[in-house]
Amino acid sequence: MQTVYPINLEREAHASYNYLENMIVPQNGFTYFNVFLTDPAEAVHDWPDFIDVPSRTAEACVLLRHMTGIPVNTEEACFKRIYGFQEEDGLFYRPQSRITRHEFVREEQALVMGALIAKAIADKDDEAHTRLERLIEALNSQETGAGSFPAMLIRPVARVWEAYQWRRAESLLEKLTTAVCQTSPVFRPNGGFAGHVHSHLYAAAGLTEVGRLTGDDKLISHMDRVFQWIRDRSTRFGFVPEVSERADDVVGCETCCLMDYIHLAISLAKAGRTNYYDDVERAVRNHLIESRVKNGDWLPSKHNMTDDDLIRRNGVGDAAEGAYAGWSCPNHILAYDEWLPSGWIKSPELASIYLNKVRALQNCCGPSGPKALYLAWRHASKVIMENGGNSLRINLLLDRSLPDAEVRCNEPWEGRVEVCAKDAFLSVAMRCPSWTSEKDMTATVNGRPMDLQISGGYAMTPSLSAGDCVEFRYPLEEREELVRIGNEGRQSYRYRVGWRGGTVMEMKPGKNPSYGVSHLMPAPVQLYYGNQGPHPLYQRGNILQNKPSPLPLHSATGPEIW
Ligand SMILES: [Zn+2]
Repeated sequence: MQTVYPINLEREAHASYNYLENMIVPQNGFTYFNVFLTDPAEAVHDWPDFIDVPSRTAEACVLLRHMTGIPVNTEEACFKRIYGFQEEDGLFYRPQSRITRHEFVREEQALVMGALIAKAIADKDDEAHTRLERLIEALNSQETGAGSFPAMLIRPVARVWEAYQWRRAESLLEKLTTAVCQTSPVFRPNGGFAGHVHSHLYAAAGLTEVGRLTGDDKLISHMDRVFQWIRDRSTRFGFVPEVSERADDVVGCETCCLMDYIHLAISLAKAGRTNYYDDVERAVRNHLIESRVKNGDWLPSKHNMTDDDLIRRNGVGDAAEGAYAGWSCPNHILAYDEWLPSGWIKSPELASIYLNKVRALQNCCGPSGPKALYLAWRHASKVIMENGGNSLRINLLLDRSLPDAEVRCNEPWEGRVEVCAKDAFLSVAMRCPSWTSEKDMTATVNGRPMDLQISGGYAMTPSLSAGDCVEFRYPLEEREELVRIGNEGRQSYRYRVGWRGGTVMEMKPGKNPSYGVSHLMPAPVQLYYGNQGPHPLYQRGNILQNKPSPLPLHSATGPEIW
């Protein structure tokens, strides 16, 4: 009999430890940006493996350690690696190597900053704090332009300003906001934008925070339009396209985009748009969890092969378990067979290492999946002070254990949420799922019916004593949705999606084309939008036949890093 359990964010996060500990050189924190679908599969170091991916990984290691209570073995190596690239002027530089030039790249400082912020805030770590201060000072003394990946710095700098109130962080944030909103605007008045979705959504989350911290409602409304614009181009289950306004037939969901979609929705919810928690929960329950590589069998794996200084050929499939999709489609972990563009490499002699090979994973996404899980975990349930006492707010109907209360959810089996209060609360407020109406919601306390007040999309109980147990009940709606993905004016791909409450139980492709045009490729590419493809997703058909057994939870509020 299959063992089944309601979604447990900590277990999902822990499932990435295999990837985080085995797809990295443990001695020096050297990550592998590329995984190619060759025979055998190859993991290949690349230019993002000096600062970009190790910084994302170092940050994810801190988040996961606080989330699960279990350290990731490669955390120290990743921090040591990135610290080695900070120079006298305070900035982080790529080294001169076979694949990189000695240079400073502004966008990469945003990723280093994420790692430094996590360690400085969560661990109160002096070295991370000092290095962060030097980096902010160095960036503030520079000219600020929008850069090629616009405005990725805004979100981390806003967090630094909020946490430490440094005058230089405030000044840098003002310059960045002016550059991105006025000098060379990256978002249209209707919220639209073209190009790299990950960096744009991270920027939008940053600008939402700027709006919240400075009371700029106009800026928040503009970022709200950005969210609605990208939501219209994504699906309700969390398929968020990698590139906006791409002019060919391929479309894939990059986990980094999904992470920032969730980050932006949470920032807007913090600024009062709490209805977006519904979008966050649907994306987490469905495409985020489905985007984790659950087995590496689709990557031809061999042992006793010869590795080179840049290429690893041994056991790549096994090490990839726990990574996250670089380009998923709704029903496969990989949407299409695409190569790197020829302009990617520094010199022609590197062509045989990087070019003419199908890209299976881009490992910027490896740490982004766990970061998205942390974002959901941190904001799922919160104790807030209001009217002179504590209230509990359940924003996401997902299992969570706080020092003051335990929340257990039962979707997709039942619309039932149990809350055990370890402390007294003025109220417990549970977000009503979007398909319910006021009259559908009922609750009991210690088995006796109780009245609920519905306000702002939340069902609220009267005050509770320590030891009280509340049970909320709501109906689970079953429905079918027809969705279509694709780039405007190009080939599109249809799916029939079977929902039960907020969970996708079934994903059925229509008669979708098997080949399409990619502007990066000389000939049409193989597509996996149909029934056949690597690592099928949404294999959830039988789970309702078994009774769920809830898993243990790590009881912690966790540091509010983001
Ligand atoms: Zn990515």
